[in-house]
Amino acid sequence: MRLKDLLTSRGGTPLLQPTLSNTTYRYMILGAGCAGLSLAWNLLEAGITDPILIVDRRSSFENDRTWCFWDIEPTPFSSLATHSWSRWMIHDGDREIISECPEYPYIRIRSADFYRRVLDRFASASNVTLALGQPVLEASETSQGVRVITTKANFEGLRAFNSMMPKSDVTTTARTRRTPVSLLQHFFGQTIQVEHPVFDPACPTLMDFRTPQTDGPHFVYVLPLSETEALVENTYLFSLSVSKERHRQEIGDYLGMRYGLTEGSYKVIEEESGAIPMTTAKSRLAIGSRVTSIGLAGGAARPSSGYAFLRIQRQTRGIAQGITDLESVAPAHEHSSLGGLKYQFLDTVFLQCLADRPALASRIFGQMFDRADSAAVVRFMGERSTIIDDLRIVAALPKLPFMAAALNSCSDWFSLLVRR
Ligand SMILES: Cc1cc2nc3c(=O)[nH]c(=O)nc-3n(C[C@H](O)[C@H](O)[C@H](O)COP(=O)(O)OP(=O)(O)OC[C@H]3O[C@@H](n4cnc5c(N)ncnc54)[C@H](O)[C@@H]3O)c2cc1C
Repeated sequence: MRLKDLLTSRGGTPLLQPTLSNTTYRYMILGAGCAGLSLAWNLLEAGITDPILIVDRRSSFENDRTWCFWDIEPTPFSSLATHSWSRWMIHDGDREIISECPEYPYIRIRSADFYRRVLDRFASASNVTLALGQPVLEASETSQGVRVITTKANFEGLRAFNSMMPKSDVTTTARTRRTPVSLLQHFFGQTIQVEHPVFDPACPTLMDFRTPQTDGPHFVYVLPLSETEALVENTYLFSLSVSKERHRQEIGDYLGMRYGLTEGSYKVIEEESGAIPMTTAKSRLAIGSRVTSIGLAGGAARPSSGYAFLRIQRQTRGIAQGITDLESVAPAHEHSSLGGLKYQFLDTVFLQCLADRPALASRIFGQMFDRADSAAVVRFMGERSTIIDDLRIVAALPKLPFMAAALNSCSDWFSLLVRR
């Protein structure tokens, strides 16, 4: 099975003549991002001493993103958190809703710190090879294993894990009516600095809907790093056609509306952007029997929220722990399937409701954070909710739109049951 058409880059003729590597790797990891590096980390933790290859087109590791998530279970990287908040705010357009949950703080990890920790670990492991600056052109199964062709080399291995996102998943229409509903969370953020204190460092804003809603659900996320520094992210759930210039303009408008800031009164330190598929459609987890997709490419983003970091930790830990099963070349999707049936059902209905009634988005999120117990909401977001938590969430949400969405999506969630 060829991965050629899944690749985000060229996919055509190699730029440089490939050379043949002599080593046969037990595990080849395509993509040295969050999932690829977490998987390699977990393989080492599981005591694997066989050769592991990690290939990436990047040639360095910058602080290219920050990961925030609710600290509901330990991860090897949670101790890297630079910030921890036990309070957060949602603004549904009419009112400010503050949630408090000291039990499960919302924490922030800089990707630079994550990369450093993982790379330090690899430096002391003799079995990890990092091949950087090498776009993967093709990966194909052979009778013996998997062959990966990059712009600089050919690699042979027994199993491969792919975290390179298929371009088609990112460029398809943001909002599709095909079933199940697929949305694309599309965002652009700026880390800004101001001279005089304006941010409340104790309370991030998870969603502020005081924004134009003409192109579907649209909100701003504000992560205060101090009184004078914050990451401000402009997020759309449907529209892909928003240019960087428009994002910058809308962030500027928001900063003016909320903090009275004008252009020139704040300095942009960093910018980041991303597009995260939100769908319960079955992802291509196992591509053939020897190549398994992981990370966003392996459906690791929570369909209803786009949060992925914690799920990637679970997914890669599960794969590493089940690695002895993988030796039998069984498809690895049993280890990497995410989200129980309950969450897949709830997320299918949730996405259907957003697609059917986009104007209700602010009300839906507002009511959930306002009416349901905060710890229950966090456990629900982290897929660790009890039945009582789920009932609290359902009770908090507008009933009729969700009942209509449940009916509208019944063929989708029925197929969820069937495909188990
Ligand atoms: C800016 C941003 C902020 C985010 N914030 C959060 C957050 O706060 N909380 C949360 O839970 N989730 C967040 N996410 C979502 C998710 O956690 C991240 O996208 C995460 O990095 C996904 O991990 P991944 O390994 O699947 O993809 P990536 O980390 O993007 O890794 C994929 C790797 O594949 C490499 N690659 C791609 N194509 C090729 C090729 N052809 N050849 C070789 N290498 C290739 C890339 O260079 C990259 O290193 C965020 C995403 C972004 C983009």
